[in-house]
Amino acid sequence: MRSALGGPRVLLRRLREVMAEQVSAQDRLDKIVVLIAANMVAEVCSTYVLRVDNTLELYATEGLNKDAVHKTVLDAHEGLVGLVASEAQPLNLSDAQSHPAYSYRPETGEEIYHSFLGVPILRAGNTLGVLVVQNRARRTYVEEEVEALQTTAMVLAEMIASGELSSLAEPGAEPAARIAVHKSGTILSDGIALGHVVLHEPRVVITNYIAEDVAREVKRLDMAVTKLRADLDSMLERGDVAEGGDHRDVLEAYRMFANDQGWQHRLREAVATGLTAEAAVERVQSDTRARMLRSTDPYLRDRLHDLEDLGHRLMRELVGRDHAPSREQLPDNAILVARSMGPAALLDYDRNKLRGLVLEEGTANSHVSIVARALGIPAVGEVANAPGVADPGDAIIVDGTSGSIYVRPSQEIQAAYAERVRFRARRQEQYRELRNKPCVTRDGQPVELMLNAGLVIDLPHIEDAGAAGIGLFRTELQFMVSTSLPRTSEQLALYRTVLDAAGGKPVTFRTLDIGGDKALPYMDTIVEENPALGWRAIRLGLDRPGLLRGQIRALLRAAAGRSLRIMFPMVTVVREFDQAKTMVERELTYLRQHGHTLPERIDVGTMIEVPALLYQLDDLFERVDFVSVGSNDLFQFLYAVDRGNARVTDRFDTMSAPILRALRHIARKGKEAGKSVSLCGEMASQPLGAMALIALGYRSMSVNATAHGPVKALILDLDAAKAEAAMAQWLDTPYDRVPIRERLTAFAEAEGLPL
Ligand code: PEP
Ligand code: MG
Repeated sequence: MRSALGGPRVLLRRLREVMAEQVSAQDRLDKIVVLIAANMVAEVCSTYVLRVDNTLELYATEGLNKDAVHKTVLDAHEGLVGLVASEAQPLNLSDAQSHPAYSYRPETGEEIYHSFLGVPILRAGNTLGVLVVQNRARRTYVEEEVEALQTTAMVLAEMIASGELSSLAEPGAEPAARIAVHKSGTILSDGIALGHVVLHEPRVVITNYIAEDVAREVKRLDMAVTKLRADLDSMLERGDVAEGGDHRDVLEAYRMFANDQGWQHRLREAVATGLTAEAAVERVQSDTRARMLRSTDPYLRDRLHDLEDLGHRLMRELVGRDHAPSREQLPDNAILVARSMGPAALLDYDRNKLRGLVLEEGTANSHVSIVARALGIPAVGEVANAPGVADPGDAIIVDGTSGSIYVRPSQEIQAAYAERVRFRARRQEQYRELRNKPCVTRDGQPVELMLNAGLVIDLPHIEDAGAAGIGLFRTELQFMVSTSLPRTSEQLALYRTVLDAAGGKPVTFRTLDIGGDKALPYMDTIVEENPALGWRAIRLGLDRPGLLRGQIRALLRAAAGRSLRIMFPMVTVVREFDQAKTMVERELTYLRQHGHTLPERIDVGTMIEVPALLYQLDDLFERVDFVSVGSNDLFQFLYAVDRGNARVTDRFDTMSAPILRALRHIARKGKEAGKSVSLCGEMASQPLGAMALIALGYRSMSVNATAHGPVKALILDLDAAKAEAAMAQWLDTPYDRVPIRERLTAFAEAEGLPL
């Protein structure tokens, strides 16, 4: 077996010299392939670059026919080179021609070469091209040579990603690293934003790939790994990590990886080839990412995330700085791209510069989405490998109306979206003009249109939209964005701020709706098979009264001398309401005895979210002052579909007869009992849903801030009596083959209503 001339370290040293030379991109590439061929004693070394049209173009070669450069273009899956690209794995063959994927291009003159080693040119898990060496003799390349070629490929990846090669390409055939990418995901928050990518966890920019002193790099790596392990150990030992909680599990997983010999071995091997310690971390991360991205096993994918976090930590250890973008650094028109993000992290960014959010994970019901909606920034989730396809500073469009993103969009797409943004802005202007108009249907029926809120940032919307008040204040959001349990004084301060901002308009505070999937990081969590049906909301509040009592006291004190509305979530039987109301009365007595000013008026009500309540409405209405329907949960329980499960959420229509009949039943019973009935689920935030609600007899609803304008515009144009008559006819037809949603849409169109 031949041994490599000079070995990988010499190769890297020479590469560094070539990279520093002031030469054209083609000359640099030509020199690199010559260098590699000489160093590896290969007769051939070629570089193929993946193009925007998903083909692989020969960009440079030593050994093959030079006339084939920029002429030979392979299909992305064609031949051995295509195989390396599509599998994103090295391919090491002593007899290439007997491989089933072998395909021969006569113009290259490669038929005389038997052995073949190809490695993918990878960056952040994406394949940008393929680097190949070939020999006449049948030989197997040794592990060290494979490593060396992969390391060289990394340097080429940076060259391609920097755009240096774009000048060599024909229009429409540019390297794919800068390709325009259109990806689909799910809608987290409505709206459209154009801006530039800011990575929430930026890849550390490596300025030096090639080690000057390998021994020193090994030492740096070892020290960083040791420090990383010690940090993880002390984080685990510190008391602030909840015992048995999720956080602890993640840390345990990290610690396991940090001590994993395989991982460290791969890192050390990469350094041994002559890379700097940080380049070695990137090499190993990129390989792992490419491999795991192709895996369909969700368990493996989760582990990938743990491993990536660990890589980020190690990288930060090595470069000695935290590269997370700070509030001050955020550029104008920033679009955050992240794998995942908590609500508190999102709130840390400067609202004035933030335009949009893209997440690789995250569903519409996650809390970061609720915060994005409160901030009014468009957001798209479930975008595969989002942080991998976008580079900092890249132009990006977030389309929260269709749930898709465009990275490095073409001029045409940008122009089309800019026009849509202008159109939407004009419409917003029209909505703003409605703000002082009374919210009354065309046939004179007043509708109370309120807002859903949960954070201080929501409050200006009451004034901006001209809303009738806050129909649902989700108090749990304050708890979710905090790193520790908010003290009663903090709760009191928030509730006071909310009532002040509402300026006398009604605010319905919903008591804590936590537990189950809405876990608080600082509270003991219990693992439940079915969290949605588990120990949550009022169930938890009644079993552990300390928390609920403290909250009720804070609410009563905040509303001193004013009106207060308290609402309990997830009430299933009337007795739960009685118990909760007793708690309110006890707290009132306590405050009275201690000389506090009491609220001038207190209304106490429940959400209707659990179908069992539908069969206790007479008893319930006797006791409550008001109800508000939580259609999100009511739908989930009535149809037995998990609202957070993308596979089933759209299986049944939220605007079909069963739920509409249930909603009508509630409205009728409330009217009979003379009690106020509102609805605060997402249904009311869609103009079609709001129209259906009015047709069912609802005259009060609470919507998202962005939905207020469109819903109000519809209400003003709607003939409520006509809609009611139509709805009665559809719902009382024993079996109607035409879906009610279709009937509603047709009605709206016939009436010329804005949907
Ligand atoms: C609902 O269930 O409809 C509701 C408004 O409450 P949440 O979405 O907070 O569960
Ligand atoms: Mg609910």
